[in-house]
Amino acid sequence: MQYTEIMVRYGELSTKGKNRKDFIYRLGMNVRSVLKDLPEVEVKAQRDRLHVQLNGADANEVMNRLSLVFGIENFSPSIRIEKNMTDIKQTVLEMIKQQYQPGMSFKINTRRQDKDFEFDTNQINLQLGDHVIDNIPGIKVSMKQPDISVRVEIRMNGAYISSETIKGAGGLPVGTGGHATMMLSGGIDSPVASYLGMKRGVKIDMIHFYSPPYTSEQALAKAKELTVKLAKFGGNIQFIQVPFTEAQETIKEKVPEGYLMTVQRRMMLRIAAEITRQRGAMGIFNGESLGQVASQTLESMAAINDVTTLPVLRPLISMDKTEIIKIAEKIDTYELSILPYEDCCTIFTPPSPKTRPNLEKSRKFEQNIDVEGLMQRAIEGIKVTDIAATDEFMNADVEAFAELL
Ligand code: ATP
Ligand code: MG
Repeated sequence: MQYTEIMVRYGELSTKGKNRKDFIYRLGMNVRSVLKDLPEVEVKAQRDRLHVQLNGADANEVMNRLSLVFGIENFSPSIRIEKNMTDIKQTVLEMIKQQYQPGMSFKINTRRQDKDFEFDTNQINLQLGDHVIDNIPGIKVSMKQPDISVRVEIRMNGAYISSETIKGAGGLPVGTGGHATMMLSGGIDSPVASYLGMKRGVKIDMIHFYSPPYTSEQALAKAKELTVKLAKFGGNIQFIQVPFTEAQETIKEKVPEGYLMTVQRRMMLRIAAEITRQRGAMGIFNGESLGQVASQTLESMAAINDVTTLPVLRPLISMDKTEIIKIAEKIDTYELSILPYEDCCTIFTPPSPKTRPNLEKSRKFEQNIDVEGLMQRAIEGIKVTDIAATDEFMNADVEAFAELL
């Protein structure tokens, strides 16, 4: 059956007063963004529904992409036809025949927006029901629990027929929950934390620290590739790469080994906070989970968090690693995350960093380095890339790297 459009229903929160307009606008933009490479597709965001007109595009491909976008409650592939009973009867029958197995029951559910249409909803339901019963011997009608449920909508511009409802990703459209940054490594945790932030509608810009030549092009490509995966949940994401080599080398030279990790993290957070502030964003997400490693104890968090008053948001704070991995698998970031490319944090991490760093000492050891100058040079060296859900430029690279392993 050749579907002509996917009818998208908004998440229930969209019904809340004046936020509704913003919700619909953002969702429309986000959906357009994940379908950008299919120019024939048209997206019409209306008050009650979002209509994705296929104009010949592959319905399954479009539905696969829609199923990831936050803010969608569910959607139905639909066929738009002329508003006359002959065509409607024929299409409804064809749709039911496609799914029908002996013993199944059905139900027709009509909604009428065009009040001038020659029949009312009851009459339409009855006529269509009779037509189906006459043409499929043995089929039963069930109002409560039909096996096949066909929806007919008589709208101003045509009749829409659908019979499947597919669950969407839920959550809120990315962008309706404000703007923050995310500290994205190439690991398992930070992509999952990004996903959870986006689920609540937050637009996030990725901040990734890299340290050439200690970290490779592959490690950078991997972080960008993870960003492509995450863009599928809500559209384009800005990827900000921050050169961190000079800061790390200086810290390694000037700070006692037990405090290398803490001072390094303080520096990263300080730079991230400044970038966040410059972009008018309001918080910093990271992938920390309590007690997972030395830098993720409460004492460590206190010593590191000391450098900023911006909210530091940690969606994974009380999750177990196994729970985090489960989500990573679900959102398809796990396979990429476990590719073994060096992260700038781990290569300079001493074998036994302090698990209970002291705040005063952290501050004191930091006085050995030119914090302002290092920060300024790192920020001057940033490069920003706009990454789209439809980007494929790195896929090939990552696959090639994977083969080399
Ligand atoms: P992840 O799987 O996210 O790397 P992790 O368990 O390996 O987390 P760490 O490497 O200690 O933990 O990093 C803790 C958090 O610090 C990360 O979740 C991420 O938010 C941030 N982070 C670590 N390395 C980087 C980096 N190179 N660039 C940006 N943020 C980073
Ligand atoms: Mg890591």
